[in-house]
Amino acid sequence: MTQVEVDVVVVGLGPGGERAAAALARAGLEVVGVEMHLVGGECPYYGCIPTKAMVRASNALAEARRAGDLAGEVDVRADWSVVAPRVAEAARNWDDARPTAALEDAGVRVVRGRGRLDGPGRVVVGDDIFLARRGVILDPGTAPADLSIPGLRETKPLTNRDIVRLSDAPASLIVIGGGPIGCELAEVFARFGTAVTVLEVGPRLLSREEPEASAVIAEVFAREGIDARAAVRIDHVDRVADGVTVTLADGVVHAREILVAAGRSPNLDGLGLESVGATVTHGTVAVDDRMRAADGVWVLGDVVGHGAFTHVSVYQADIAVADLLTPDAGPNAEYHAVGRVTFTDPEVGSVGLTEQQAREQGLDVRVATVSVPASTRGWLHGPGGDGVVKLVAADLPGATDPAASVLVGATVVGPMGGEVLSMLTLAVHTRIPLTTLAGMHYAFPTFHRDVLFAVQQLLDR
Ligand SMILES: Cc1cc2nc3c(=O)[nH]c(=O)nc-3n(C[C@H](O)[C@H](O)[C@H](O)COP(=O)(O)OP(=O)(O)OC[C@H]3O[C@@H](n4cnc5c(N)ncnc54)[C@H](O)[C@@H]3O)c2cc1C
Repeated sequence: MTQVEVDVVVVGLGPGGERAAAALARAGLEVVGVEMHLVGGECPYYGCIPTKAMVRASNALAEARRAGDLAGEVDVRADWSVVAPRVAEAARNWDDARPTAALEDAGVRVVRGRGRLDGPGRVVVGDDIFLARRGVILDPGTAPADLSIPGLRETKPLTNRDIVRLSDAPASLIVIGGGPIGCELAEVFARFGTAVTVLEVGPRLLSREEPEASAVIAEVFAREGIDARAAVRIDHVDRVADGVTVTLADGVVHAREILVAAGRSPNLDGLGLESVGATVTHGTVAVDDRMRAADGVWVLGDVVGHGAFTHVSVYQADIAVADLLTPDAGPNAEYHAVGRVTFTDPEVGSVGLTEQQAREQGLDVRVATVSVPASTRGWLHGPGGDGVVKLVAADLPGATDPAASVLVGATVVGPMGGEVLSMLTLAVHTRIPLTTLAGMHYAFPTFHRDVLFAVQQLLDR
């Protein structure tokens, strides 16, 4: 056993851990970063980045197929052998040499292995013990969940870690889970000729989003030939000679491959959180608004339950770094305006509360919806222009003038919905009064102009 004293140990170099380690080293601290797999975490190798390379490819196909209604026939031949190398390149060929070197250049000592807390300020990695003078930051992230569906494990289902390495699009695919990842991948493969069935146990696709958003995606999927079923009851799964069968309460579905795109399991086993007195409830680590889980221990990312997104993880890294460097002087984490995008086509961008969440908080809620195809830009766009803008407004506590209401949530489904979201994120984040939003200029004819019509609806009530 060797024992080394440093300022900070960061365990788990996902997006937040990587950022925190680099920032602290640049601030002059002696930092060790511990990673048991790939520096960068899930996002660059198996998550956001490679899947969005796939989405880009499938959107290109969809646009080419729409050309017939707009510009003249195009001969489209989908070919996954064009996609696979681009996905590999996006995922850095699953090689973390570059981000590791970048961390080392910033002054971080990168240590390979599984880190375990062993009491305050003490991290064990194999035969090495690191003693952290200033603190420990944990960004352990999640792994694909092992769902307890009878027979599923034995079929060796694909997960997000396999799907990004496929060299061919399968002939047919069952996707378990109709959340953001399931919907994105279902649409990608359907556009490459795969017969896709989505099985969602919840009441609808994208069940955390507004029902109006789910309805648009369900309609688009039906048009694209995706067999998307919600509120299913899965009885068991079997591997058969030519693929996999899923037995439902009301029938059997068969496909060549099965993908599990539901649920993530937090990497907390053996992390030693109990040794510092941190609280873990149902796989979520309790932290305060400076990301502190215990004295001298900061925890970031998916495992703290404020949104499993890369941008949340790096945001939290900045909060933790500020707190570690200047105790009690840094900003508090805020989550009232977390933006999120499901990269289906049309994209689903949303921020803040849904209507139901706002009502559950007891807010006096007003909502407005605008159909994207009915707007000028939506009509001009034509095929592929499905969508809806939904705004959720409420009065600020103590406000008496309804015109001074602010947006507490917003959803944009449509082409570039994730980009239109930016102005709504600003509005929710900074609590811009509706009257200010109504008095702005909105360029014509744009998709974001639909926001103006929705704001006017809110003020007309
Ligand atoms: C298919 C898919 C698509 C996604 N798309 C998006 C998207 O478009 N946009 C978005 O914002 N988010 C997306 N996400 C979510 C995003 O990937 C995560 O929110 C993001 O990676 C942040 O995770 P994290 O910081 O919690 O850590 P992770 O990225 O999970 O990384 C944690 C790291 O810690 C390491 N580790 C764990 N325990 C230990 C230990 N004891 N010792 C040493 N190392 C350890 C792991 O090996 C891993 O490298 C997607 C996720 C998936 C699966």
